[in-house]
Order: sequence, then structure tokens, then C-alpha cells
Amino acid sequence: MPPIIDIHSHLWAEDWLPETFWDAFVDIAVRQNEKRGKTVDPERIRESYLPTYWDPTGEKLLTRMEEANIDHQVVFGVDFGLALGEPETPVQEVNEIIRDFRNDNPDRISAFATIDPRREGAADHIDTALGEWEMDGLKLHPTAGFYLHDEETYEVLDVVREHGKPVLTDTGPVFAPLYSKYSHPTNLDEVLSDFQDLDFIAAHMSFGWWRDLHAIADNKVNSGLHVDISGWQAEVKHHPEEFAKALRWLMDDVGSDRMFFGTDDPAFDPVHPKEEWIETLRELPEREVEPTFTTEEIEQLLGGAAAAFLEKYDSGPYSQ
Ligand SMILES: [Zn+2]
Repeated sequence: MPPIIDIHSHLWAEDWLPETFWDAFVDIAVRQNEKRGKTVDPERIRESYLPTYWDPTGEKLLTRMEEANIDHQVVFGVDFGLALGEPETPVQEVNEIIRDFRNDNPDRISAFATIDPRREGAADHIDTALGEWEMDGLKLHPTAGFYLHDEETYEVLDVVREHGKPVLTDTGPVFAPLYSKYSHPTNLDEVLSDFQDLDFIAAHMSFGWWRDLHAIADNKVNSGLHVDISGWQAEVKHHPEEFAKALRWLMDDVGSDRMFFGTDDPAFDPVHPKEEWIETLRELPEREVEPTFTTEEIEQLLGGAAAAFLEKYDSGPYSQ
């Protein structure tokens, strides 16, 4: 049985993210409940629900991996400081904590460093993170307000190229007050051409913009484009046919050896447990109507492809 590898997951702690991020989180939860005719108390969400997501030591993450039979996870922080106000703990420190977490669990965890490229010294920090700290790749979240083709981003990408590491970038629309336009998949166009030798993972299969990602992927065959399907846990329940179609089209574009399973957890896990998400994917080969999938394709998706990818980068237990 090939391994199960989650290529997109986070560690969250209260003081690692801006207060505005948590405010948005509460607002979203309130509105999602309202839509279903339920009234929830924002204070209760803040006081009793939010803290269940906080896991600065990674203890909860490891327990959930065990329970869901996930063999390996790629973990990173997120840098919304310039966009939403600085959190108590600087992103550079969060990167270091996640590096330590990887060092304590080398077989189970790979660690990507993250930074907003507009930060002073961003390229130098990534040089340290990928060099001296031997972190496994770079994670970017353009919704903070920068483009992949901005000059500052290119400076950081030049450093990633020197170290020969992969890049995972958010694509698809995002909640307020972050900006969706920066993570539209069309913004992959320039970097895929200018950094043809770099492997890029387009996160979330671009959510509702998957057709635009398909349009890019269909043409940029001679680039390092990979795709992760993290964050579709809710959508797959509401629109299973749309998900199957998106997955089939993208798989046909980039190849099943470049499509990766992911969760984006802890964000989804409490409402849409990982076990359910994995089960839904495992059942795809049983589909009798188009689009259909082979067992081999789904095994690749759940971890076979990611194992080969991490092996290429000497990351985790999959190094040669
Ligand atoms: Zn994420």
C-alpha cells in the first residue's frame, strides 16, 4: 500500500497569527451557521472553539496523523503580518519553531518556510531557512497583497532556485480582508515561464477558479507545475460532481504523478475530519459514470506521487 502524504498542512498558535485573522475566523463561523438558520454566540466561538485549533508544539497534529493513518505531512506557517497587522511572534521565529518540529519528527514531518516577500530581508531569511536550517521548501500566500511576478518575490524565488527547493503557493479565492486577485491562477503564468526549472505546487486546485488553473496547466506542460487538492473537504460534499470533474481535468493536464493530496488542516478537520476526506477519495475508483479514476491514480494522489516528489528533494523518510 503506498503511503498517505498530506502535502499542505499548518501549525497554528494564537500569537503566531494576527488578531484580525482570528476575528475573520469567528465572523466566518457565525455566518456559516446563520446560513443554516443557526444562531451562535461569537464570544463562545472565540473562547471555547478557537483554542482547539492552537497547537504550538504540534502534539495535536501528530495525534491526528496517527488516528487518520497519515504517514507524512508537509507543515508550514503563514505570514499575514503585513496584510492584517503583526502577530506577537514574528514569522521568522515561527519558521524556526516549525523547523525544530521537523527535526524532532524527521520521518513524519517536512517543513516549508514562509514569508511575505515584501518584508525587509525576506530573501536573506529564506536563504538561511533553506540553507543553514535545511528547510524543505518555500510556502507563499500571495493573498497578503503581492504577486508571484513582483520584483521582491523574484528575489526570494532566485534564492529558492539556488538551493534547488520546491515552492508551494496559494491559489484560489480567499476570505476578507485578504485579497483574492493576487492568488488567481493566471498569476502563475510568468513564474512558470521565468522559473521553468522550479517546481511549483498550486494549492487548493484554485478552488472555484479550477477551470482557469486548467487553462494554464493545459498549456504550461513544459513547466514545473504541480497541484494540491487541499481545502476541497466541504465542496466535495456539496458538489461531488464538480470536484470529480476538476480532479479529472487537472489530472489529465499535469499528470497523476504531479497531483497531491492535502488537507490545509487544522482549518477543516473539526468539521470535515481527515478520515472522511481520505475515504471520499478512496471511493473515486468505484465511480461508474464519467469522470472515472483508476485505483493507481488515486493511490498516486493520496501519497505515491508525493513520496516520489519528496524523494527527489531528499525530504523526510523518502530521501534516496
Ligand atoms: Zn494553507
